[in-house]
Amino acid sequence: MSKYVFVTGGVTSSLGKGIIAASLAKLLQARGFKVTIQKFDPYINVDPGTLNPYEHGECFVTEDGAETDLDLGHYERFLNIFTSQANNVTTGKIYQTVINKEREGAYLGKTVQVIPHITDEIKRRMLILGQKNEFDIIITEIGGTVGDIESLPYIEAIRQLQWEMPDEDLLVVHLTLIPYLKAAKELKTKPTQHSVKMLSESGVMPDVLVCRTEEPIGNEIKKKIAQFCNVQQEAVIEAVDAATIYEVPLIMMKERLDTIVLKKLNITNYPEPELTKWKEFLDKLKYPKAKVTIGLIGKYVELQDAYKSILESFVHAGAINECKVQVVDIHSEFITRENVAEKLGSLDGLLVAPGFGHRGIDGKISAVKYAREKGLPFFGICLGMQMAVIEFARNVIGIENAHSTEMDSDTTNAVINMMEEQKKITKMGGTMRLGTYPCQIKIGSLAHTIYGKNQISERHRHRYEFNNEYEEQFERNGMIASGVNLETKLVEIMEIPSHPFFIGVQYHPELKSTVENPHPLFVHFIGAAKKFNEHRMASKSATLQSEVI
Ligand code: GLN
Repeated sequence: MSKYVFVTGGVTSSLGKGIIAASLAKLLQARGFKVTIQKFDPYINVDPGTLNPYEHGECFVTEDGAETDLDLGHYERFLNIFTSQANNVTTGKIYQTVINKEREGAYLGKTVQVIPHITDEIKRRMLILGQKNEFDIIITEIGGTVGDIESLPYIEAIRQLQWEMPDEDLLVVHLTLIPYLKAAKELKTKPTQHSVKMLSESGVMPDVLVCRTEEPIGNEIKKKIAQFCNVQQEAVIEAVDAATIYEVPLIMMKERLDTIVLKKLNITNYPEPELTKWKEFLDKLKYPKAKVTIGLIGKYVELQDAYKSILESFVHAGAINECKVQVVDIHSEFITRENVAEKLGSLDGLLVAPGFGHRGIDGKISAVKYAREKGLPFFGICLGMQMAVIEFARNVIGIENAHSTEMDSDTTNAVINMMEEQKKITKMGGTMRLGTYPCQIKIGSLAHTIYGKNQISERHRHRYEFNNEYEEQFERNGMIASGVNLETKLVEIMEIPSHPFFIGVQYHPELKSTVENPHPLFVHFIGAAKKFNEHRMASKSATLQSEVI
C-alpha cells in the first residue's frame, strides 16, 4: 500500500513548492523508500505544451512524450528517476476525461457536476500511481495558491481522501511565507495564519507547515505559528533561503522534515539517509577550481524559467568538471553581424537554445558563424542545431538562400524541412515528435567520444528535421551527420570534425541531466570550454606581456 503526501502552497506563488516536494522526496529516497512525485495544475490547458514560455517557463518532456510542467524536471533531477504522462495532471485533462465520458453516456443521465464527478476524477488520478505497487510514498504537489478559485476542487479532493483513508496513510504539507518587514525589523506570521485558516475552511488541516523565510524564524515564532495554526511545534519547518536549490534537501534534513513526515505516516523502521553522492556533488559545486563563461543565445533569455533544464544541466556539468559555469544570457534579437565579435568575444562556449518561429534567428545564425570560424566550442540544441545547419549551408557550402521551411515556407533550399508525419497535423498540443527515440552514433565521431557508446536514446520535441537530400553536400564540405535514427533516417546529431568542439543535436539532452547523472554532452561541452578558456587566458596574458615589453 502506498502512502500519500500532499503539498499545497499559501500566501503567494513562486515559493518553490516543487523544490520542497523534490527535497522531501530525495530525503525519503535516501532512506531507502521508493518515492515518486506528481503535479496537479489547476489551469485549463490540457497540458503546458501550448503555453508560451513567457507564461509558464519551459515545457518539460517525459520519456513517454508528455509535455509537462517544469517541476517534473526538478523531480527527475533530484530523484534520478523518470516521470511519465501520469505524473502531470491539469484541470483541462480532468474536464476532458469527464466530458468525454459524459458524451459516451457513461453517467447514465445524471447531472454531471464539479462534486462528485470532477472531484472523483481528480481523486482517481491522485491514486493511480499508488495502484502500481511500485511506490511506498507518493508526493502530490498541487499547483497554484490556496484561496484561488481554481484550486478548490483539488483541495476538496484531498479533504475527501483524508476522510476516506486511515490517518496514517495521508498527510498534508503546507508551504507558506513568513515575510520580514524591514521597517519594523520583524518577521510576520499573519499571512501564514490566514492561509492555514483558508485551507481549514475548506476542510483540510495541514499536518506540517514549511515556512519560507529570508531570516531564521527561531523557536518563539515557530511556537506562535504552531499555536495559531493548530500544528505541533516540531512540524513547523523553517525553510530559509538557500544559495542553491540543491542545498534544500540538506536544509530540510536539518529541520527534520523527513522524519516528521515518516512519524506522521507511522513508519518507524528506516535507515540513516544515504546522501554521499549528493554531498560530493554539493562540495564540488561550492568549491570550483576553474571558471568558464558560456553564452546562452535564445529569445526568452530574460525569463529564467524558460531554459530551466539547460541551466540546471550546466550546474551538474560544472560540478563534475569542478568548474563554475557562468551563463551569460544573450538575446538573439540583439546580435548582428557587426556586433557579434564584441558580444561573444569573452565567451568560452556558445549554446544556441531550442525555440520556435522566426524572431531572432538572424542573430543566432551570426553567432553560430562566429563560433565556427573562431573555434569557439559550440553546442546547438534542437533549433540551435537547425541554425548551425543553415549557417553551414549558406556560408560554407554556398547555398545562399538555404533556410528552414519553419521560417520561410517558400524557400527553394529547405535544408531544414517539416517532417512528413507533421504535414498532415492541424491540431496543436501533443502533436510534435515527442518523447524518446533511439539514435545510432557513428563510431569515431565526437558524439561517440562523448557518449562512449554507439546506441543512445534521447527525448524530442520538434516538427522540423534535417533534409537528407543535402547530406552528401554537407559531408563533402566538412559537416557530418554523426547520429541518425535508423528506422526513420532522421538525423539526430550534426558535427564538424575539424572544429575543436562543434555539435548540434535535434533532441533535448538537457531533459535527461540529473545530479547523479550529468549529461555527457554538457559535461564534454564544459570540458571543451575549459580548454578554450585556458588558451584564451594564455593568449591574453601573452598579449599583455608583449604590450609591456
Ligand atoms: N522549431 C523547431 C522545430 O519544431 C525546433 C524546436 C525546438 O527547438 N524544440 O523543429
